[in-house]
Amino acid sequence: MVKRKETNIISRQLLIDGKWVDSISGKFFRTINPATEEEITTIAEGDKEDIDLAVAAARKAFEKGPWRKTDARDRGLILLKIMELVEKNKDELAWLETLDNGKPISETKNADLPLVIDCLLYYAGWADKIHGETIPVRGEFLNYTIREPVGVVGQIIPWNFPLLMAVWKIAPAIACGNTIVLKPAEQTPLSALMLGRLCQEAGLPDGVLNIVPGYGPTAGAALAAHMDVDKIAFTGEHTTGRLIMKAAAGNLKRISLELGGKSPNIVFADSDIDSAVNGALRGIFFNQGEVCCAGSRLFLEKKIHDEFLGKLSDRASRLSVGNPEDPNTQMGAQVSKEQFDKILHYIESGKQEGAKVITGGERCGNKGYFIKPTVFEGVNNSMKIAQEEIFGPVVSTIAFDDMDEMVQQSNDSPYGLAAAVWTRDIKKAHKIARELKAGTIWMNTYNTFDAASPFGGYKQSGFGRELGVHALELYTQIKSVWINLGT
Ligand code: ADP
Repeated sequence: MVKRKETNIISRQLLIDGKWVDSISGKFFRTINPATEEEITTIAEGDKEDIDLAVAAARKAFEKGPWRKTDARDRGLILLKIMELVEKNKDELAWLETLDNGKPISETKNADLPLVIDCLLYYAGWADKIHGETIPVRGEFLNYTIREPVGVVGQIIPWNFPLLMAVWKIAPAIACGNTIVLKPAEQTPLSALMLGRLCQEAGLPDGVLNIVPGYGPTAGAALAAHMDVDKIAFTGEHTTGRLIMKAAAGNLKRISLELGGKSPNIVFADSDIDSAVNGALRGIFFNQGEVCCAGSRLFLEKKIHDEFLGKLSDRASRLSVGNPEDPNTQMGAQVSKEQFDKILHYIESGKQEGAKVITGGERCGNKGYFIKPTVFEGVNNSMKIAQEEIFGPVVSTIAFDDMDEMVQQSNDSPYGLAAAVWTRDIKKAHKIARELKAGTIWMNTYNTFDAASPFGGYKQSGFGRELGVHALELYTQIKSVWINLGT
């Protein structure tokens, strides 16, 4: 259970129209600490009726509320105020995130929270810089465009970076003047609810941000299918992405999808090997491997294969796995029993298909959903562990000596979210960057992010780009206005 002194930062209700309410059904669901397998608390469980109320509140705030008349610069000021409050409460937010998700406190403090704060700052800056253009059309006309908000947006987010995913979605939506119904993942609702309180404190008008925790097939599906929602932004599994596309067809709402990945991390013999080993570790073991762009397929040039694997497995076996609240912990718990079982199942499947575990390959301890950092050697790109997203601390290494064949294998995946290349040969690096089918290419780095740089997928990793100026496309629409200047 949560320590008594901390219970005041936990919200357990839905946020609808500026009020904290129980769900209409009166039901609650449990949220579990994956490191202890114990219940943290129970949260009001939203369902279709609650989504209906939240959408109605968002619609009212969009069409009639003060939001419509709020100056763009004042929207930016509200985002800045939210940023300040997040900064002020960053220790509590980091602790809540670690408690709910199982990720190490060193990561929530040094990665999640700084990225959250930066994203709020970045979009606060955009709010009053979103404008149209005047267009030199033929004839005696003045033609100009206005960039307007899309309207009511539904945002469905996953459990791997709960607060960061919330902010990636709400910050650009607010900057552009939309109103929001946010559905956090059922595994990790706590940080989004606290963010809701901070948004209220920052002066965000009632109904602009509504938060309805609940399950995917009930609350999530109702939001995706709602006829009065203008856009859905979703991050999660590709199978869920397909369901959302179908559900969105009812009123042809816009959608943007950020789905899974099976990203190749390619190391050439001419790279700085030690820094590539660091990159490979960060690529797969950061956040327990629960990262959509994790470097889960590690392509190693044959000349350095053995040396690299030796260093990698040595470092992986020495990572400290355990209590996420301990500042020295490097890898925490997987988010849920379901996820834990799924990862162990994939490890078994890799062994059965003939790949060799050189370190890890089993659970760690006997309480909590901990899995040892796992490195597979001798993987063939057609094996299940090289084709399917494991979403855990499991890396499949594949040896190569022919560059064209390696590029072909790297692209031989239904996904295309990210890829990385390690080499000192700048020409080779840029050539491969052009050939890899992925939305992000990292060179001599991994898992590098900035609020200003777009993120999203090729192929079945989804479509639409979050972050940067590109996210403004997701949350605005363009109106063309004509004025007759002739007779
Ligand atoms: P995972 O299986 O890893 O939890 P999901 O794609 O199922 O990944 O979850 C991501 C988000 O999508 C969560 O907020 C979840 O509740 C939601 N979700 C799951 N199923 C549906 C659905 N059918 N419709 C809408 N949202 C859903």
